Amino acid sequence: MRNTKITCTIGPSIESSEMLEKMIRGGMNVARLNMCHATHEWTREIFQRIRTASETVGIPCAIMMDTQGPSIRTGDLPVPMELKPGDIFEFTVKGAQSEEEKSVDVNYPNLIKDIHEGDTVLVDNGVIRLRVLEKLHRRMRCEVLTQGELGSRRHINLPGIKISMPSITEKDRQDIALGIALGVDIIALSFVRERKDIEELREILRAGHSDATIVAKIEDQQAVVNLFDLIDAADGIMVARGDLGIECPYEELPIIQRRTVKACIRKGRPVIVATHMLESMIENPMPTRAEVTDVANAVFEQADSVMLSGETTVGKYPLECLEVLDRIAQRIERSGGANYAEDVELIEERQKIVRSAVVMANELKAKGLLVFTRYGHMARYTSWLRPNHSRIFAFTNNERIRNQLTLHWGVMPQLIQFSEDPEETVLRAEQVLMERGFLSKGDQVVIVSDILAHDKVINAVQMRIVE
Ligand code: PGA
Ligand code: MN
Repeated sequence: MRNTKITCTIGPSIESSEMLEKMIRGGMNVARLNMCHATHEWTREIFQRIRTASETVGIPCAIMMDTQGPSIRTGDLPVPMELKPGDIFEFTVKGAQSEEEKSVDVNYPNLIKDIHEGDTVLVDNGVIRLRVLEKLHRRMRCEVLTQGELGSRRHINLPGIKISMPSITEKDRQDIALGIALGVDIIALSFVRERKDIEELREILRAGHSDATIVAKIEDQQAVVNLFDLIDAADGIMVARGDLGIECPYEELPIIQRRTVKACIRKGRPVIVATHMLESMIENPMPTRAEVTDVANAVFEQADSVMLSGETTVGKYPLECLEVLDRIAQRIERSGGANYAEDVELIEERQKIVRSAVVMANELKAKGLLVFTRYGHMARYTSWLRPNHSRIFAFTNNERIRNQLTLHWGVMPQLIQFSEDPEETVLRAEQVLMERGFLSKGDQVVIVSDILAHDKVINAVQMRIVE
């Protein structure tokens, strides 16, 4: 019984069928496939394994494919290179030859064009910091500012610099095509910069007849500038704190997170808070006090989901991580939340109908809000309004919608066959919830529905006592 959802990145630590089943039972709601590290063969295999595991344990789990995006990387090095402050280091493009002892080629041909003398270059998640001294033909001279060891294919961040690489790269297109073919539920788009990046992905999905939803990852300064536009255009947002913390001054991070979560809840978009939530648990079975507080903060803000990366891909304690998130979420949810949903702006009539249902459920302290929904709208609206006490049980006859709803705050989605007679559908749903121990006789529930009955859409809100 937890409202905050848990997204876990899949990797060696949890990719066996046995572990996937344990993770789903333990509370993983969304499985994330990070395409930076995935081959197509692996993706196919794991995709099926997650679907089967979810089927076996009888609990839904969405699959989210996360693209690599326009990521700049250093090339291969035969052996790692030691860098010290004061060293001269050259980055080359298109395989140019450097006369310096220390240099590396970069996969991005326009690097020298896009960068300026005096700019900062960050390598390997900001560990190695360099300053650009001089731009030359197909190479640039830099001064090393911080010590570090440079390995092969390290990620490069250029804070504040507008990169002229396409937002959806050729690799991304191939990965997305695979995702469409496999029937992926959600696609997370990395390094989104502006609205048109999302529109481009939408077009690709439309052309491929995919009904996947789009999560825009906020991970650099441009995305922060265009935040409201991106929230408007996407189906969901990820606060990708890993890259964001390198691309922006880190003291801005809590402010950006708060502003993003607030704006998403006001607009009715699901929001995921990602990266370093339980980083120390990659190696240790217990979280640090700072991590507990960080997770609690995201739960307090009423983000839809928190996310694990290294903790579940290569970490030693993935199941313990789930337990930690579950315990913190349940405790903090009981203590109340930020209630940013109080001043949402409702536009559509159906949203207002849902609001009256949520107000009723809050007043009655109803045990559950039972939402019957074909396309998921009514269930998403219910979650958006963040009911105070009632669990949201969403019933749909569409498997994709069922999976996608697992990301949304407080929603427990399940499949149901809609009967011609709405009354029969409601009774069947109550029966299912009683069998599974979520409801008992005498409980008060509020029903929200927009189901079809004899070809007519019936929008209805009612209070009932479970019999
Ligand atoms: P990544 O995105 O793990 O794909 O880099 C998340 C982040 O940057 O926080
Ligand atoms: Mn990232």
